[in-house]
Amino acid sequence: MVRKAIAVCGIVQGVGFRPYIHRLAVERQLVGRVCNTAAGVSIEVQGPSAAVDDFLARLPAEAPPLARITEISVHDVPCNCDQDFQILTTHRDTPVSTLIAPDVAVCEECLHEMFDPGNRRYCYPFINCTNCGPRFTIVRDIPYDRPFTTMAVFRMCPACRAEYEDPRDRRFHAQPNACWACGPRVELWDGEGKHIAGADPVGETILRLQQGAVAAIKGLGGFHLACDAANVDAVRTLRERKRRVEKPFAVMAPDLDAVEQFCVVDATARQLLRSVQRPIVLLPRRDNAAIAHEVAPFNRYLGAFLPYTPLHYLLFAGAPFAGLVMTSGNLSEEPICIANHEAVRRLRQLADVFLVHNRDILLRCDDSVVRLSGARPRQLRRSRGFVPVPVFLRDEVPPVLAVGGELKNTICLTKGRHAFLSQHIGDLENAESYSFFKEAVEHLRRILEIEPAAIAYDLHPNYFSTRWALEQVGLRQIGVQHHHAHIASCMAENHLGGRVIGFALDGTGYGTDGHIWGGEVLLADYGGFERAAHLAYVPLPGGEAAIREPWRMAVSYLVHHFGCDFVRDLPLVANVAEKTLNVLFRMMEQGINSPLTSSCGRLFDAVAALAGLRREVNYEAQAAIELEMAIPSYYDESAYPFDLLDDGEGWIIDTRAVFEGILRDLSREVTAGDISRRFHNGLVEVLCAIAVRLRERSALERVCLSGGTFQNAYLFERVCHRLRDAGFQVFTHGEVPAGDGGLSLGQALVAVQRLTSP
Ligand code: ZN
Ligand code: ZN
Ligand code: FE
Repeated sequence: MVRKAIAVCGIVQGVGFRPYIHRLAVERQLVGRVCNTAAGVSIEVQGPSAAVDDFLARLPAEAPPLARITEISVHDVPCNCDQDFQILTTHRDTPVSTLIAPDVAVCEECLHEMFDPGNRRYCYPFINCTNCGPRFTIVRDIPYDRPFTTMAVFRMCPACRAEYEDPRDRRFHAQPNACWACGPRVELWDGEGKHIAGADPVGETILRLQQGAVAAIKGLGGFHLACDAANVDAVRTLRERKRRVEKPFAVMAPDLDAVEQFCVVDATARQLLRSVQRPIVLLPRRDNAAIAHEVAPFNRYLGAFLPYTPLHYLLFAGAPFAGLVMTSGNLSEEPICIANHEAVRRLRQLADVFLVHNRDILLRCDDSVVRLSGARPRQLRRSRGFVPVPVFLRDEVPPVLAVGGELKNTICLTKGRHAFLSQHIGDLENAESYSFFKEAVEHLRRILEIEPAAIAYDLHPNYFSTRWALEQVGLRQIGVQHHHAHIASCMAENHLGGRVIGFALDGTGYGTDGHIWGGEVLLADYGGFERAAHLAYVPLPGGEAAIREPWRMAVSYLVHHFGCDFVRDLPLVANVAEKTLNVLFRMMEQGINSPLTSSCGRLFDAVAALAGLRREVNYEAQAAIELEMAIPSYYDESAYPFDLLDDGEGWIIDTRAVFEGILRDLSREVTAGDISRRFHNGLVEVLCAIAVRLRERSALERVCLSGGTFQNAYLFERVCHRLRDAGFQVFTHGEVPAGDGGLSLGQALVAVQRLTSP
């Protein structure tokens, strides 16, 4: 006979953990108790030592899907005369763990019940249990308990109440528990927000979708705009109304087999698609698929995902859609709509009908987007299903708030060994996004109970997030350079300390010299950095306009290397009015509205424009994405040579020979695909050459890759490969986005360093 006390830390509350422990103990005829504590769950089990050992072995292995165990400690305690195994209820004054589970997909058991005509929840669109359903998006306050969620307004019926209170039931303390008799309902509204009475809301929605309509559908973290992905006209209509010209839409498919009809799905992708987080996964697209080309024009990849709410399953059960376009319910870059009337107000020009319900979404949370590269899933947008699971840190840190950048904003709060990254907040360039940003900061601070000691922000003086940070009085304010934050983010995710070689490649980040950086090689630790190498500065003629119109960047690079007269005769500017061109030349010459940039993103833009792929873009990074997509699949090692110039402080990466090479290839009618690959290969070569030189100088062997440019799989995989061949240890992002969505994590860690070292 032995008795062991076991403490389990991590996400173990509100995820069916205590009933699970109860079952595990009872099955082995063990006695004892389990209860929630501030750190997680505390267990005592007593019985024959073989049975207790078995219990301990099973405990982590068979934990419920939403549980995330970070630590288990076990020690012996004296046996007592317990007769059974008890679940002790949590007292109001017991401090509880602040780790809240994310929203996850409906589970198999619930689906089975929903499609069983004999079940009392037959076709009920809000079926859930302790293993599935909404969490983060319905939590108003902690502890995570029904009165503190948006389910508080629904009084459980006796049948639901009995499940909720029975420790052996799989709905024990399932906070959103509900049924036809007591829970939320769906309604169908017309384009003006008027209730369409009489009709079966789900059936009618399916009918409208089949007829080519656009439906706004309320989901877990916000509204989607949906249409039949096989219907070209419907997809075009949605594009026109949403003012989204070419940016790819994601497609929700009824099941894995359906995804395989239009995408190539390998084992890792299959696992990801089916995971409880149900992210959108970018997958190679098949030719001749039933999905309309307009869903993702000029793109060899397609974002696919599987249904994750009971309502999604009901929609697919009612009609044989090959797939439904499911895009965020918003107008261009505004935040996604969450409230019914807000949706009607903001989306009435976009949707023909609204499938709404009365379970309120407290906090919006977009779909997460993942891409596989180097055989590993990498977050492009870490949101629904992952937030608010923390990023686990190597060391204990003081509480800080980091407010991120401007585009793809996220915020980060630290506590203990946890860094909590917020959901995707979006581009902070309109009033709606800005208020969502403020709301997210407040809400996360409240539910995580974090009082930050400092606030970290980007150095760009005009970012909304920066200005907000500087308005917060009474907090220590710490400015962090953009690319330093990128590298620190990669270090934090990989639990690195000390100094590393950091490649930070992206579109835009404010430099300490006031110029726009983006092609940066840093020697960095959390405390600071040295700029070891960077792309040569060129003017960004017209500022923002040069970002929207990549041909301007091509002109900028060519003028920089070969002068104005040379550029005048190129086919690149054949369609540009002489006057426009002269204005452009004068702007660059005199430095009018032409900030200097070492941006890697703009270099990709210039090459894409010169190669004839993309003169103007209508979404962020479009030219760079299409340049990557153009790379042919056959093997070729040829590369344009980049040069390294020593400027006394570091190396300048010069592109003259690259552009000479491109112009020569263009005159020989080499394809855009080959030009693209030679450019990519050349960039990889020069980065590796820099790493080797830096290793000679500094003896550093660890390289961190960060910044949005590394979302380019060809570049990313090739750089990793070449660096590893050269004997470097390469560290990359996985859990945290390499782009600006991961910036706040790095800012937080830099701020922590400043707080803790004198
Ligand atoms: Zn379930
Ligand atoms: Zn009920
Ligand atoms: Fe960036």
